[in-house]
Amino acid sequence: MQRVLCLVLVLAVACLASRPDPRGEELRWLRGNTHTHTLWSDGDAAPEVPAAWYREHGYQFLVLSDHNVLSAGERWFPVDATGRLTPERVDALRERFGDETVEVREREGVREMRLHTLEELRSRFEVPGEFLFIQGEEITGSFRSPGPPARNLPVHVNGMNLAELIKPGKGTSAREVMNASVDAVIEQGQRLGRPTLAHINHPNFGWGLTWEDVAAVVGDRFFEVYNGHRGVRSLGDAEHLSTEEMWDHALTLRLTELDLGLLYGVATDDAHSHWIPDQVSIPGRGWVMVHAAALEAGAIIEAMKRGDFYASSGVALEAVDVRDGRYVVRIDREQGVQYTTRFIGTRMKDGQPAEIGVELGTSTTSPASYTFLGDELYVRAVVVSSKLHPDPYAEGDFETAWLQPVRPAGLD
Ligand SMILES: [Zn+2]
Ligand SMILES: [Zn+2]
Repeated sequence: MQRVLCLVLVLAVACLASRPDPRGEELRWLRGNTHTHTLWSDGDAAPEVPAAWYREHGYQFLVLSDHNVLSAGERWFPVDATGRLTPERVDALRERFGDETVEVREREGVREMRLHTLEELRSRFEVPGEFLFIQGEEITGSFRSPGPPARNLPVHVNGMNLAELIKPGKGTSAREVMNASVDAVIEQGQRLGRPTLAHINHPNFGWGLTWEDVAAVVGDRFFEVYNGHRGVRSLGDAEHLSTEEMWDHALTLRLTELDLGLLYGVATDDAHSHWIPDQVSIPGRGWVMVHAAALEAGAIIEAMKRGDFYASSGVALEAVDVRDGRYVVRIDREQGVQYTTRFIGTRMKDGQPAEIGVELGTSTTSPASYTFLGDELYVRAVVVSSKLHPDPYAEGDFETAWLQPVRPAGLD
């Protein structure tokens, strides 16, 4: 009987899906940051500063995602010696980007500088096939937690490739607000006939979202497993799971009781500080590598929706291949650096999750591979290097890549 069961399991995992390649097109790895702030909301720099930084640091795409605003329309920002846009910074913008690019006016005794719109930035920074902007918004909502003490807790969702501003969702719980914001992103995409994507941001920020909330996202399937802003409590505490632990618990709940399918992890900078690195939220801490057919918003979003991307704080991969019952990871190795790949998942027993988010296997070679046994609900992989992150989220962080979870064919 046991042998028959084994055979069934072996056959089942032999059918394990590889992620479908889009119609045989050649895919490129594209590096992008999907979460950035500027003077359009609470960032400290005009948008050309991060635009130049990301373009010069090997990124192919950048999502400007200010709080509840699109980088569109006429907007003047006060020049103030004690504010975020000082006269010295205006001079630095002139020097760096050209006198003609800086527009300043005097209004009722207040000096102001006009912020450039995304359309203006596109013509100055975009290069076909090399660098692309995608319009985003951090849909910044909250809900009233009954407490005690009663207070407003944050629920932030990033919308990608928007054409219209989205107001934060309303509701009496984190889940209602979160799903209303996500649904608005998806609804806009359907209504305007454009691909859009929503990801849940920093669930532990202000302890706004529990892992059960993250598990309950319905309209889309992305959350920040890594956010470089040091104020977002990614590591949790004695009473709260880290974002990576949340991922395993959320995946397990989604794939068993909720029937909601896989949840994918993104890494972002959530950078606010572009002028003077204050070490709190700077560019370059975390990003996504997307395996897309073209440097276009549609192709990038399509690749992310089929799970063909990974999150990184430094480790680069050559290939991720899931087929014939094996999860295989090829690392783009740096000389003198060691890599440990951990395969993590939840084991099932008698139709119930037996061990949630446990290490199923480990490898120090490249390629690293894991052969499915058949009792896994899902399997994901994390590659940790022996190299310390140069600008870490927390002291002692090693460069890491977080790969997406997969599960047996036909079950998602
Ligand atoms: Zn936020
Ligand atoms: Zn943010």
